[in-house]
Amino acid sequence: MSLKTFDPRLGVQFADAAEIRRKLAYLCRPVNKSPVLAADEGLWISDGTDVTKFLSSQVPYIREPMECLSRRIYEAVILMGPARSGKTKGLVEGWINYTVTQAPGDMLLIYSTKKKAESMSKKDLARCFAATEEINKLRTGRKSDDTLTFKHFLNGMNLSLDSATESSLSAETFRYAGCSDYDRADDGVGQEGSKFQLMLKRIQNAKSSGMAMAESSPGRIVRQPKSPAELGPHEAQPCGGIAQLYNQGDRRRFYWQCDDCGFWFLPDFETLHWEGKYSDPQDVAKSTYCQCPRCLHRIDEHQKQEKSLAARWFREGAVDSFGEEVTDEDKIRQSKWASFGFEGVVAAYQSWENLVYRYLTAQTLYEDSGDEDSLMSFYNIDVGRPYILQIEGKDIGVHELMEKAKGNPYLRGVVPVGGRFLIMSIDVQGGKSNARFVVQAQVFGEGLQRWVIDRFEILTTPHRNGDRINPAIYAEDWDLLIELVIKKTYPVADGSGRVMKPILTLCDSGGSASEKDGKKTSVTDFAYQFYNRLKAKGLSHLFRLVKGASNKDMDSLIKESYPDKRSKLAHGEIPLLMLHTSRLKNRVVASYSRDEFGSRYFHLPAWAEREWFDELTAEFIDEKGQWICPDKTRNESFDLCAYAEAGMHFLGGDDIHWESAPPWASEWQINPNVIDADLQPVFERKPKKRYNHSRGIFG
Ligand SMILES: [Zn+2]
Repeated sequence: MSLKTFDPRLGVQFADAAEIRRKLAYLCRPVNKSPVLAADEGLWISDGTDVTKFLSSQVPYIREPMECLSRRIYEAVILMGPARSGKTKGLVEGWINYTVTQAPGDMLLIYSTKKKAESMSKKDLARCFAATEEINKLRTGRKSDDTLTFKHFLNGMNLSLDSATESSLSAETFRYAGCSDYDRADDGVGQEGSKFQLMLKRIQNAKSSGMAMAESSPGRIVRQPKSPAELGPHEAQPCGGIAQLYNQGDRRRFYWQCDDCGFWFLPDFETLHWEGKYSDPQDVAKSTYCQCPRCLHRIDEHQKQEKSLAARWFREGAVDSFGEEVTDEDKIRQSKWASFGFEGVVAAYQSWENLVYRYLTAQTLYEDSGDEDSLMSFYNIDVGRPYILQIEGKDIGVHELMEKAKGNPYLRGVVPVGGRFLIMSIDVQGGKSNARFVVQAQVFGEGLQRWVIDRFEILTTPHRNGDRINPAIYAEDWDLLIELVIKKTYPVADGSGRVMKPILTLCDSGGSASEKDGKKTSVTDFAYQFYNRLKAKGLSHLFRLVKGASNKDMDSLIKESYPDKRSKLAHGEIPLLMLHTSRLKNRVVASYSRDEFGSRYFHLPAWAEREWFDELTAEFIDEKGQWICPDKTRNESFDLCAYAEAGMHFLGGDDIHWESAPPWASEWQINPNVIDADLQPVFERKPKKRYNHSRGIFG
C-alpha cells in the first residue's frame, strides 16, 4: 500500500517509500566507469573564464596516469611534466570526478599554500562542480557542507583542501591523498619529514583501495648531475621534489612512433630542430620541427596531436636501445608507484614555436649576463625537466681565482684605464662583538667589465675619541659614511690628477641588529633616519638602501619600493631597492668565471688578500637555487659585489649602447663624475624649488 496519503487523524502527509528509494537509488547504484571514461562523459572543467568539456583526446598523455589512479595494484601515481599540459585538470579534477561519482572515499588535496587551495576551490573547483552534472547531483546544498576547504557529498564522501602543514598531514585518515604542484612548496613538513611519506601514512588504513598522487613541474636544482651513462634510460637527474618521487616509481615515459622507421622514440626537447639562418629569434622559432633521432624523419607540429593519440607509455626497460618494445617483465622496472614523466614537446597547450622562442631568449640572456633564472624556469616549467645549474660557486676554487687575479695587476685605490663609473657598496654589521661598516669600491667599464679597486672597513669614530662604532646603537655613526664613502673620490690612472666621484652608494638596510639596555635596536630604523638626513643635505640621489628579498617574491632583478608600513620613520618616502639576491649572485659568479677577456669580465683584484677570495666563494647553492652562506662564515665580498651589480642594473647599465653611452658612462674627458685636479668635487644637489600645490578635493 502506498503511504503517499494524508492521514486526517494525525494531520500528516506520509511520503512514498518507493518513490524515495527510486529518487535516491543513484547514490548506491553500482558503477564501474574508469576515470578517463567518467571524465570524458561527464566532466566539465574551468578554462579561466567559463567551463569547457574535458576531453582526454586533447591530452592523450594524461589517460594512462588517470587510469592508474583507479588501479589497486598501485599505491601512488606520480606525474612530472611541463606546465600548460592539462596535467592538473586530469589528475585533480579528473580524479575528484572519478572518486565522487564512482568510488567515494575521503580525499585530502594538498596545494602549495593555503591561499592557493582556497583560490583553487573558489574558482576551478566551484566552476567544475557546478557544471559537472554527476557531481552537482551529489552536493547537499547545505552551506556547511560546501566551504572553501571542505566539501561533503550526499554519498558520504568528504573532500578537504589544505596546504602541507604538520597538522593537516597528521592524525586524520583518508582514502585518497593528492598533492598538486608538488615542487612549489617544500618537500619536508616541519620536523615531521617528507611530505609524500606523510601523505602515504594518511591513506594507510585504506589499504589497497587507497591512493596517493603527486603532480608537478620540477622545481629543484640538480646539484650533482650524473653523466648520461650513469643514468637509467628513463631516470631523471638526481634532485629532490617530484623528480625524486618519479625516480622511485616505475619511470614511465611517453613515446612516439616514427612513421618512417617504425621505431619508438622519446619526443624530448632535443628532438626539436630549427634553422639558425635567421637573425630574429621569432623567425628561428617558426622554423621548428621534430626529428626522429634514428632515421631523421621530419615531423611537423600539425602532426603532434595525431602522434600523441597513437603514442604509448613505456616503463623503464620496456623499450630497448633500438626503439623496439621489450615484453620480458624481468627486464622492465617494477614498482608499486606508477610514475610518469613527459616533456613540453608533447604538451597540448604549448606550441613548439613558443617553446623554442623561450629557449632562445633565455639562452641569450644567460650568455649575455650570466643570469640563469629564465633558463632555469624554461627547463622546469616549459620542458618539465630538472635543471642542472651551469655555475656553482664552489667549482672555481680560491686558488684558481687568485691565479687568475695575478694577470690583472691594477693598483688599489686607482680607477683603471677604461673604467667609466664607480659604485660604492656598504655592508652593515651591527653585532655586539664585531660591529662595523664594510665598504667596497667597484668600477665598471665598457661592456660592463668590472674592477674592484678598494675594500675597507670603518671601525672607529673620531667623534667619540676613536671608540668602536656600532651602527645598530649609535645613529650618528652612520654620518661617517658621508665623508668616508659617499663623498670619497679615487684618482684616475692617467696621472692627470683628475679624480672620479662615485655615481651611487648602495647600503644594506637589514644588517644584523643588537641590543641596548635590554631593548632590541633596529639597524633598519637608523638606516631610514640616515637617508632622511642625506635628503636634507641634498645627497640622497647618491645613496640607496638595499634589502634582499626572497626568490618567490621577486619577478625582476631589482625592484624599487617605498616601504611605509614597516617603519614609522619611512612614511612611504624612502626608496628601498629590493634585490633578487640569487640572480644577482649568479651574475657575479658568471662574471668571475669568465675565462676570456670581454664584456662583463671581472678583473679580479691582484691586490686583495686571500680572505677577499674566501668571502667571494663562501656560499653554495641549495636545491631551490638560493645562495646559502654557511654559519659563521664571512661572505662580505660576495654580498658587496652583488650590491654593485644591483646598482649597475638600477642605473640602467645593462641597457647601455656603448657606442653612444650616457655621459655618466662615458670616457673621462666628458664624464661628469670625473673632476679636474684644480676643482673641488661637488656632491650636493640643490633642492628643487617646491610649490605647495593644492591637492584638490581628492587629496
Ligand atoms: Zn624514424
